[in-house]
Amino acid sequence: MQRKFSFAITTFGCQMNKSRSEHLAYLLSSHGFIPSSQKEEADILIFNTCAVREHAVERAIHHIHQTVEQLSLQRATSPIVVVCGCMSELLREKLSRKLPFVTILVGTSGWDKLPSLIQETLVERETSCFFPQEDSAPFLESGYLHGDKISAYLPITYGCDNFCSYCVVPYVTGRQRSKPMDLILQEFQNILAQGFREIILLGQNVNSYGRDFGEERAFEKLLETLEQRFGEQKIWVRFITSHPKDMRKSIIGMVRESSIFCAYFHLPLQAGSDKILALMNRKYTQREYLHLVALIRETFPEGGIGTDIIVGFPGETEDDFQETLHVVRKAQFDIAYTYVYSPRPHTRAATLVDDVPLKVKKERLSLLNSVLREVYLERVRCRLHTETTVLLDEEDDSFFHGHTASNLRVYIRKREGYQIGAFVPVKLRALQGTKVEGEIVGVRYEDSQTALSCRSDGKR
Ligand code: SAH
Ligand code: SF4
Repeated sequence: MQRKFSFAITTFGCQMNKSRSEHLAYLLSSHGFIPSSQKEEADILIFNTCAVREHAVERAIHHIHQTVEQLSLQRATSPIVVVCGCMSELLREKLSRKLPFVTILVGTSGWDKLPSLIQETLVERETSCFFPQEDSAPFLESGYLHGDKISAYLPITYGCDNFCSYCVVPYVTGRQRSKPMDLILQEFQNILAQGFREIILLGQNVNSYGRDFGEERAFEKLLETLEQRFGEQKIWVRFITSHPKDMRKSIIGMVRESSIFCAYFHLPLQAGSDKILALMNRKYTQREYLHLVALIRETFPEGGIGTDIIVGFPGETEDDFQETLHVVRKAQFDIAYTYVYSPRPHTRAATLVDDVPLKVKKERLSLLNSVLREVYLERVRCRLHTETTVLLDEEDDSFFHGHTASNLRVYIRKREGYQIGAFVPVKLRALQGTKVEGEIVGVRYEDSQTALSCRSDGKR
């Protein structure tokens, strides 16, 4: 019998990358390769990389070097090393100089050829680079080998048309391509049939879904269709990322009326000052952003708003930075990812002088994080002693970990008869540092009539 080869994938970066790795795992498994969680034993090591900041690139290169060198010392035969994704697309052949042991280099497209490229390499042990001219069509994603049975990613768009001046994503992932609605419905149905509890619709800017096939309001149509078909299902659905320039009242209204969509919105602010927002090509002002936040807060007082913020963009003065802090205090973000500006190749911002000293960037980052922590704690304190629904998604010896529909992370002391994957009624009891502790109260929703009516914070 022919020997089967095993593969292990390491993923860097965003949820989109995690989802693409799940697709690659499916693709390779359906071609007879065996997924393995043990890098030490796998015949094929795959690294799906990120290029959004220089730090991500350096980290990936360092990690790949270290892993491969270590494993080569431990083994008789060296593994096949595949490097794919955004870093690969950005650096292309240059990467073989930095990582001379790489066997296969592919960018963000043409992954459907990977099973045969790997097959050939196993026989001939020759190195190859594969960078097709055309961006991959979204419908090539035939299936996913999801990491767990709790939350499943479902990409609805690929690429991005926004060209924010600091961002390399459009250059490495291509123009926006929306997945046809019938394929999304099929994938949604498949995920449900596998017993998942949560589905996360993914895209760089989900609100512009369908614009590339000429439809302005296709996202609303998608939400409406999902609600009509699956509204009775016991599932949480959320979508990320919402670009503030394309987020609209009609979408917020549809989430309010829905019984499956969670009241959590990821609305990257990036910067608070209008001058910096214009330089970033974000196409909204501070006022418009805060107006959107007010609308969401009014509609879902206990809903969640998440954000991404960059400090130290070229030309950012102390006053500009204070504007960012002002928005943070006003918006009271529940979750935030913060970054120091990193100049990226091809981007417009890379032609500007990177004039904020690193020391100042770091000081701003640290101050920003402490203000974010304050507003987070303030919001959580207001919710202590209230009841909510938590989806249990992880566990350790003593605690279940889980999240609410609004994406608040909660830690719950374990109780008999419960397991991860369950929706449970929880009372938020205390704060330990930034950790929210809750206690299971009442019956499991799976066993109760209230299951469908208690799923989304701030809605019912
Ligand atoms: N499509 C999403 C996010 C894409 S990248 C959006 O529109 O928000 C994820 C985050 O990385 C961005 O939101 C931004 O905050 C950060 N980022 C992107 N390019 C960056 C750069 N050059 N320097 C620092 N942070 C960056
Ligand atoms: Fe990058 Fe802007 Fe596109 Fe987000 S919307 S991926 S930040 S270009």
